Amino acid sequence: MFYEKTNQWNALTAAQKKRLWKLAEDYKSFLSTSKTERLANDEILRMAQKAGFVSLEEVVKKGKVSPGDKVYLDQKGKASVLMILGEDLEEGMDIVGSHLDVPRLDLKPMPLYEEGNMALLKTHYYGGVKKYQWTAIPLALHGVVFTKDGKRVDISIGEKEEDPVFYINDLLIHLSADQMKKALSEGISAEQLNVLLGHIPQKDEKDNPVKTAVLKILQKEFGMIEEDFLSAELEIVPAGPARDVGIDRGMIAGHGHDDRVSAYTSLAALLEIEKPARTAVCIFADKEEVGSMGNTGMESRYFENMVAELLALFDKGELAVRRSLANSRVISADVTACFDPTFPEVTEKYNVAHAGCGIVMSKYTGVRGKGGSNDANAEFLSDLRQVFAKKKVVWQSGELGKVDQGGGGTIAFILANLGAEVVDMGVPVLSMHAPFELISKADLYSAYTAYKAFLE
Ligand code: MN
Ligand code: MN
Repeated sequence: MFYEKTNQWNALTAAQKKRLWKLAEDYKSFLSTSKTERLANDEILRMAQKAGFVSLEEVVKKGKVSPGDKVYLDQKGKASVLMILGEDLEEGMDIVGSHLDVPRLDLKPMPLYEEGNMALLKTHYYGGVKKYQWTAIPLALHGVVFTKDGKRVDISIGEKEEDPVFYINDLLIHLSADQMKKALSEGISAEQLNVLLGHIPQKDEKDNPVKTAVLKILQKEFGMIEEDFLSAELEIVPAGPARDVGIDRGMIAGHGHDDRVSAYTSLAALLEIEKPARTAVCIFADKEEVGSMGNTGMESRYFENMVAELLALFDKGELAVRRSLANSRVISADVTACFDPTFPEVTEKYNVAHAGCGIVMSKYTGVRGKGGSNDANAEFLSDLRQVFAKKKVVWQSGELGKVDQGGGGTIAFILANLGAEVVDMGVPVLSMHAPFELISKADLYSAYTAYKAFLE
């Protein structure tokens, strides 16, 4: 008669436990090498190609697709779609959609300046960050630079053991009387998020000797000049790999669980599927953290265009595209809040997700009375309950905090606009949007089983 949550750890067979530990190792290495949306996208496409996925361009050039074919779309190197064709694309798809972008600090177009015998970089934060969390920790620099003659140079500094790291100063406690009286949101301001790039001056150089010296290093190492910053995309992220947490290694701390945990678990699930009856899809979107705009964000038409290209190969037009999208079922795979025993006051105890109790189904998200939320249909939730019960998936329900405490959104509403059935489902995360976030390995495993059950 009564409903009780299941603790995923207690529900594991020996074989499942083995799969969980392997999945956790693979995920940690994915997270550690995929510190930006570009790097995550590269890694996903590398794994997809290895599993036999062929680019949409090649498929279109060949002019033919068949059920069981595996196709990928690379959207500008920052977002992608993987698709395994089912028996009839027009009848709809089963889609898991996640995002690859993570809150971070981007360099400004003209970032470099010198003061106090230090060369520093100005930043503009991306997504929702608590600014004070980014000071006094080791940082890495990743991104792409185009030189004056248009040559692309990829930069990655701060991840290898022997690499230098970067650093944002905080004020010494001894002189922080005024700072400590400020609200937490103002203790460190956006314009104080300046990254130390170098310190050794160019000898006999009167003006900006440190800036001169670091520019010489950039020229020597990457062939770049100061002007090349203008067109570059360079991101500051916390340095270092994802790590096991706890004496029992039950949890993982890493940069970007939101939302690369959904991306990785859905990818792992899709790569194990052969010849699904319905077309199985993973979408890895960009720009979710800043409103899903731009031609790599979910508001863009690249996914619809891909469906149109494929249906055209079956001599089907725009109406078939609309039908395919409207007949689809979508899990909007994004992380959610987790009960934190240190901050119980922001959640409502009967409707909060707990670490270890599995992937979280959120019927709705939103703020101030479900504002901006996709409120999933009871019929669709019922269908999913049946699928998960049959496949023995451990899952739980959860709201993103107390009513009127705050809130958030996902890409769910965008896919629902196409007429598809959509629900939010993701791993509960502690310290969400902090430089290093925390998840349970049990919930990682649960997400993989849920996405797999759905896509199969
Ligand atoms: Mn997210
Ligand atoms: Mn987020």
